[in-house]
This record gives sequence, C-alpha cells and structure tokens, in this order.
Amino acid sequence: MKRTLLAASVALLAGSAMADDHQQPNIIYVIGDGMGFEFISAYRYAMSDLETKTMAETQFDHYLTGAAMTYPEDDTWVTDSAASATALATGEKSYNGAIGMDNDKTSLKTVMEYAKDSGYMTGSVSTSQINHATPASFFAHHPSRYEYNQIADLMGQQILDGDAAYDVILGGGQQYFIRDDKNWAELIEQQGVSVITDMQQLEQIQQAPVMGLFAPKGLPHAIDEGKDSLARMTSTALRLLGNGDKPFALMIEGSQIDWCGHANDIACAVHEMDSLNKTLEVVNEYIENNPNTLFVMTADHSTGGLTLGRDGEYAWYSDRVMDIEHSIAYMREKMLVMDADLWPRYVADLVNFELTAEHIERLAAASALEGEVREDALHQALAYITGDITGTGWTSSGHTAVDVPVYATGPHSEQFRGFMDNTQLGKRLIDIVR
Ligand code: MG
Ligand code: ZN
Repeated sequence: MKRTLLAASVALLAGSAMADDHQQPNIIYVIGDGMGFEFISAYRYAMSDLETKTMAETQFDHYLTGAAMTYPEDDTWVTDSAASATALATGEKSYNGAIGMDNDKTSLKTVMEYAKDSGYMTGSVSTSQINHATPASFFAHHPSRYEYNQIADLMGQQILDGDAAYDVILGGGQQYFIRDDKNWAELIEQQGVSVITDMQQLEQIQQAPVMGLFAPKGLPHAIDEGKDSLARMTSTALRLLGNGDKPFALMIEGSQIDWCGHANDIACAVHEMDSLNKTLEVVNEYIENNPNTLFVMTADHSTGGLTLGRDGEYAWYSDRVMDIEHSIAYMREKMLVMDADLWPRYVADLVNFELTAEHIERLAAASALEGEVREDALHQALAYITGDITGTGWTSSGHTAVDVPVYATGPHSEQFRGFMDNTQLGKRLIDIVR
C-alpha cells in the first residue's frame, strides 16, 4: 500500500512538472482500409491451428472497444474511402469522392490541421500513394479523389507555403510528385524537406521533415514483395515524431487490405492483415514505453462481401489460403505474357493445389478472349479458383455497408467505447488535440 501511494505521488509530481509540455497525449490513429470484421476473423483463423484449435493471439484481439457505422452523406449506405476518411479525419460526413470537403465543397479542418495548430508533430504512413484517398483526406481539400496530380500539387504547395500539416509522410506516389511538368521532390527539398525514394534510406534518416515515395503508385502487396514495408515505415515515423519535446499525431493506414478485397483475393488480404499485425507490434511496443499515447484503430468500410465459407459447405480452408504464394494480380501479370497452355500448371504450382476440370475450363475460356476482356476474365477465373479451393466467398468487387470494428487504448480511450458513428472518431480526436 505504502509503495503504491509513493508511486502515485511520484507520478503526480512528474505529471505536474511535465504538464505544460505534455498535457496532450500522442495520437496513433490506425485505419485498416476495407478491414471489416470478416478480415479480422480470416486473419485469426489463418494464423491458428484447425486440428488442435489452438487460437493465434493477434494484435487485433487486444483493445477492441466497439463498432462504427460508415455510411456517407450521399444517396447510398455504401461509402467509399474518401467520404469515410473525410469523416474519420474531420468528424463530418460527406459524399463519395470528397477529400476533406463537405457536401457543399467547403473545406473541413482535419484532426491533423488542428493538431498542427496545437503544436503537435504530425504525419502519416500508408502502403498506398500518399495522395490516395485515405491519407489525402487528412491533409488536403479537393472535390475529387481521382485527381491525383491536383492533390499532389496541393500537398506540395503546402510545403512551399509553410502550412503543411505533416512533418513525416511515407508511402508511394513518385509518379505524382516527380513529374515532367512539375518536380515537387526538387521544389520541396529546397525548403529543407528530405525526399527519399528507397526504403533502405528509412533507417538512416535522422530528422523530420521527410517525404518518402517508395513506389510509382502503391507499394507492392505484402504477399508479393511488400511484407515489412508498413512496419518499417511506422518504426521510422515513430522514431522521428516521437523523439521528445512535442506530442505527435500519426495516421497509419493498412491501405491494401481493401485492394485485395476489390480483387476478391483472399491470400492477398490475409497477408495485408499480417503486415498490419506486424505494424501493430511496433505500435504496441511504442505504447508500452510511452503511456501518454492514445491508440485508436478502425476501418473505413468493409470490401468485397467476404465470407468464410460458401455454397452451403461448413468449411473454410485456412491452410490452403496460407499455401497460396502470390497475389492474383501478380499471377495474372505473369500469365498474360505466357503461353496459355502453361496456365493450369503455373496456377497449380503457385496455389499449391491440383486444379479441378472446372478450374481448367475457366482458364481455357479466359485464354480464348482478347485484350482487356481477356485480362478481366483471367482475373475472375483466378478469383474463382482461389475462392473455390479455400471455401472463400465474395459478393462484390466494391465496398459493403456493414459496421466496422473500433479499437482504443490509452488516455481518453473510454471515449471510443460502444456503438458509434464514424464521424464521432474524428470529432473526439479533434477535441483531444485542439
Ligand atoms: Mg485507403
Ligand atoms: Zn476500396
């Protein structure tokens, strides 16, 4: 009892001594793009042992606090990533396609902009290009997510004007920031921002501000070559932002869970979840050493209408999911430049499963087509084969309107409990940083 009291009073003293600088907590805001509950379940089962029912302990099973609605302010319940990221970043709903803008196209102030005004260090890491819908909605204001060059121009100009709401921004996007008509990399380096394009430079960089552009657009899928990229970028961001005197706010996006969902590619999705899980290990270690950090995680929506089990069969073959060696996108690219006679053998080798007559027939039907139609048919054949082998169902190549999980721990985490709307996450975080 005595020791507890002493510890408490020491903590109080330390707290009051540091109150001026450290009243506001660090914020680590994680968004799994497309990470509905289905993806959490898929990842857990994929990591667990079916025979012994030994359940894997994933980072997603700590800190679950609630669920959120995701619908946009549009003529549908189904949101896109721009409207949802705008809600998560600004606390306001908007239309599908909006980047940090209201339905009437007025700019909405984001949690990162509020944080900057309060003296925070700020940043984001994503496996998409840094001007893609999710990260862009935290730093830019534009009527359409698809105008990538214009969004890059807004983000570059902010640095020239000295009002960028990011000190560390890491992801892909070389082709938007290093263009023939405009070389933002050169312009912003002149303003003292380090621009790095090789992941090997991550560990060497010593201070913010820094912009990392590690691929022309998005980074490679985790299942192909991108295994550790999100965790590595996160380590660097935490090292640069969390080195002392100021609090920081960092948004971390597992961008490609959604992309694998759009592709109806279960192995791709599970590996993206694993990449985010590794990233959460890095985050958790930081939180353990720096308890004045609020961790909040959610998804912007779910993608693909994923089901574990299909066609009336009571089975989902997690071991077969883990036996698949590459993404559908990777296989398709190789197959399109290969003699179609070789397709069945090639696919069987990479999914590590003997194809059925129906699978081979679907590949043959795709091979008989021409051009883009052939590419699409091949993609669909591979999605069918991997789904059929693993017992995975998909109902859409787009998003779905189901509620998504919410996670939180650390100071103020009680505000992220129970059932909520996605705007409440943005609103509450803004209240905490402003
Ligand atoms: Mg995204
Ligand atoms: Zn999407």
